[in-house]
Amino acid sequence: MAQIIDGKAVSAAIKEQVRDEIARDNIKAGLAVVIVGNDPASRVYVNNKKKACEFCGIKSFEYALPEETTMEQLLELIDTLNADKNVNGILVQLPLPKQLDEKAVIERISPKKDVDAFHETNVGKIMIGNYSFLPCTPAGCMELIHSTGVDVAGKECVVIGRSNIVGKPMAMLLLHENGTVTVCHSKTKNLAEVCRRADILVAAVGKPNFVTADMVKEGAVVIDVGINRLENGKLCGDVKFDEVSEKASFITPVPGGVGPMTIATLMKNTLTAAKIQNDE
Ligand code: NAD
Repeated sequence: MAQIIDGKAVSAAIKEQVRDEIARDNIKAGLAVVIVGNDPASRVYVNNKKKACEFCGIKSFEYALPEETTMEQLLELIDTLNADKNVNGILVQLPLPKQLDEKAVIERISPKKDVDAFHETNVGKIMIGNYSFLPCTPAGCMELIHSTGVDVAGKECVVIGRSNIVGKPMAMLLLHENGTVTVCHSKTKNLAEVCRRADILVAAVGKPNFVTADMVKEGAVVIDVGINRLENGKLCGDVKFDEVSEKASFITPVPGGVGPMTIATLMKNTLTAAKIQNDE
């Protein structure tokens, strides 16, 4: 039976470190969060980010814009935030309403304030391993892997999913720690066979209960990034927890695994951004 990795505890420890450093060194840090429209899930995420800021001693500035906001209006706000000395990090909550071009919005954020690490400049820096900001969700997964004491070096690592925000940067971080990395996606043949090779298996697919026990090697570390809402309103991950936890050595639950880690990394990135900007 697998040990359950407690994402809440690991993330709480990271937020405490951020809070303590801010208090000890009297650092002024601010995060602007922009939300457009009325998506209920986005609202929950934004509220959680605000709460984490309060805990850490980071000033948060919220900009809630109406659904019908134009590109021009949103870009104008980003320009204002780029120039605002009280704002060290800018986060635009995705997804955006259809009329807005997400890529153009992200590219308008100053790379120095791009605490989500979505800007092309920061993505490139992650690729070459010379980065200031960690990509929030994959970095959170790495912290959870570290918390198990399992060394990534030389391990077979399989990531299911190749999105720009999770799968690809996750593969890169595992590679930076000398894992032997395979990235699987919707066109992968013999997926179960590839997954069974994994000492460390990361699922970022967005399909409930997608990873079943027959896809998992005995003793593997299983990290479940998926957040799926079932018809009964309950949240579940991409991994069939009951059966996979019988085989894995360590496993993350959903909720309470990767989810809280994303916000903890965001707090870390905002502190890093503040330190860099305050030194300029
Ligand atoms: P996405 O839809 O952009 O990517 C999904 C990936 O899964 C794609 O690369 C696709 O090729 C792959 N895929 C789809 N069907 C497949 C199949 N049959 N076999 C193999 N691969 C397949 O999603 P995303 O943004 O990367 O998010 C993935 C999941 O992680 C979602 O459930 C999302 O809600 C969750 N998520 C969680 C956090 C968090 O903080 N915990 C953050 C971001 C995303």
